[in-house]
Amino acid sequence: MGLYTLEICYLIASICYIMGLKMMAGPKSARNGNLLAAGGMTLAIIATIFLYKNDEGNNLGNQLWIFGGILLGTVFGWMAAKKVQMTAMPQMVSLFNGMGGACAALIALVEFPKALEHMHENWNSLFMATILCGLVIGSTSFFGSMVAYLKLNGNLKKDIRLPFYNVLNTLLIIGTIGLTVCLSGGHIPNTADFTMWTWVLLGGASLYGILFVLPIGGADMPVVISLLNSFTGMAAMFGGFLYDNMAMLTGGILVGSAGTILTVVMCRAMNRSLSNVIFGAFGTGGKAVSSSDNGKQKSYKETNASDLAVLLNYSQKVIIVPGYGLAVAQAQHVVHEMEELLVERGVEVKYAIHPVAGRMPGHMNVLLAESNVDYDRLVEMDDINSEFSTCDVVMVLGANDVVNPAAKEDPASPIYGMPILNVEDAKSTIVNKRSMNVGYAGIDNDLFYRDKTSMLFGDAKKVLNDIVSELKNL
Ligand code: NDP
Repeated sequence: MGLYTLEICYLIASICYIMGLKMMAGPKSARNGNLLAAGGMTLAIIATIFLYKNDEGNNLGNQLWIFGGILLGTVFGWMAAKKVQMTAMPQMVSLFNGMGGACAALIALVEFPKALEHMHENWNSLFMATILCGLVIGSTSFFGSMVAYLKLNGNLKKDIRLPFYNVLNTLLIIGTIGLTVCLSGGHIPNTADFTMWTWVLLGGASLYGILFVLPIGGADMPVVISLLNSFTGMAAMFGGFLYDNMAMLTGGILVGSAGTILTVVMCRAMNRSLSNVIFGAFGTGGKAVSSSDNGKQKSYKETNASDLAVLLNYSQKVIIVPGYGLAVAQAQHVVHEMEELLVERGVEVKYAIHPVAGRMPGHMNVLLAESNVDYDRLVEMDDINSEFSTCDVVMVLGANDVVNPAAKEDPASPIYGMPILNVEDAKSTIVNKRSMNVGYAGIDNDLFYRDKTSMLFGDAKKVLNDIVSELKNL
């Protein structure tokens, strides 16, 4: 093998990550992008196992352990990914992200004693800071992700808010940063004390991970997971520095920056600041909170599957707005069947995709891709908003907040300013949900009471099955 074979493998791996990430930006290329990035990672792992040589010229040892670990991880990851329901994706992402954080923290724990021994004579603050940053960020990410997982999985139902939790968390983070700086500077000369304080640091960072996520509302978890994802990326980046490993460094930087960008994009799409997500309580459960009806009883119209089938059959253009309820009902296949029936009859059908519809970014794209909906029919919010006025029927399926006009019209509303889909511009709006209950934001939706709106109550899958049967009989 040539002198630079390992470096060339890392370079190819890094290029695969970057191109893979770029391809993940569009639904058509996302699957191949994922495969490309995974291929790059596999190359980096194999190259490290077989080509890496330490200062003494030895390869990595412990190959049985390494391949045993890889086998276990592959089997577990494969089975979990095959089994997971679309609605359980956020907790799976959280679990996997936590594992990344734990790896970064473990790397730091393994390297720490060696570094301490070598640096006794000649202290290198930057090197120690790299190890400690990996330890702190990795453990925060692991424990935070585990709490997020337990919440999303329904094992931890309460949003626990300790008294003065904001003050407590702030003190904890200041203490953790302070101790990291102090230890990195080599201000604790005694090795035993140094080790003891490093364990204190690990405890503090882990506790911070738990306490920072505990009070956050379950529905805000996707933003938190994205933030924790960026933490894991940063922790891996420090691991890359530590081992002078270019593939790990690039991977860490990409994950860290992608996670940060995603966090910002999600906050913007919900018109909320990151501090509001972390420190503010959002969502009031199942009861409607109206900011505009002043307690007046409002009335709404109802429709049924058979009337709607006739209306759809004679329409020229239909826009479908999928939301969280469509994912809950697992109605992606039947909605595609309905779309195909309408297209056969010459109806133009499109799907309007809101950036935060569902419970994680891209939720609706992934859901509809599962049922092989043509990507060209999926239209992003900014592109489709002007088309609602030209369409005969809008079908809102299990969506609520993303079509709430209060975001445009009611400055007192908690979602005021959030960009929404202009479904009220269509000639007729049909809203399918099971009741008049609120969505994630916990607020009433004036759209349901408008003249052009009709409610179609029931589970999305059941209702769509009924519409499909009716259409087939027409
Ligand atoms: P919402 O949560 O606003 O509403 C979903 C609606 O689906 C509910 O009102 C519910 O009404 C209905 N529903 C539930 N189950 C079913 C079912 N089986 N059949 C039919 N309907 C059902 O969802 P949206 O997608 O409109 O909005 C997403 C919300 O989540 C936004 O507020 C967004 O800010 C937030 N969010 C999104 C994130 C993301 O990345 N996508 C991240 C974090 C938050 P009912 O109970 O009456 O059936």
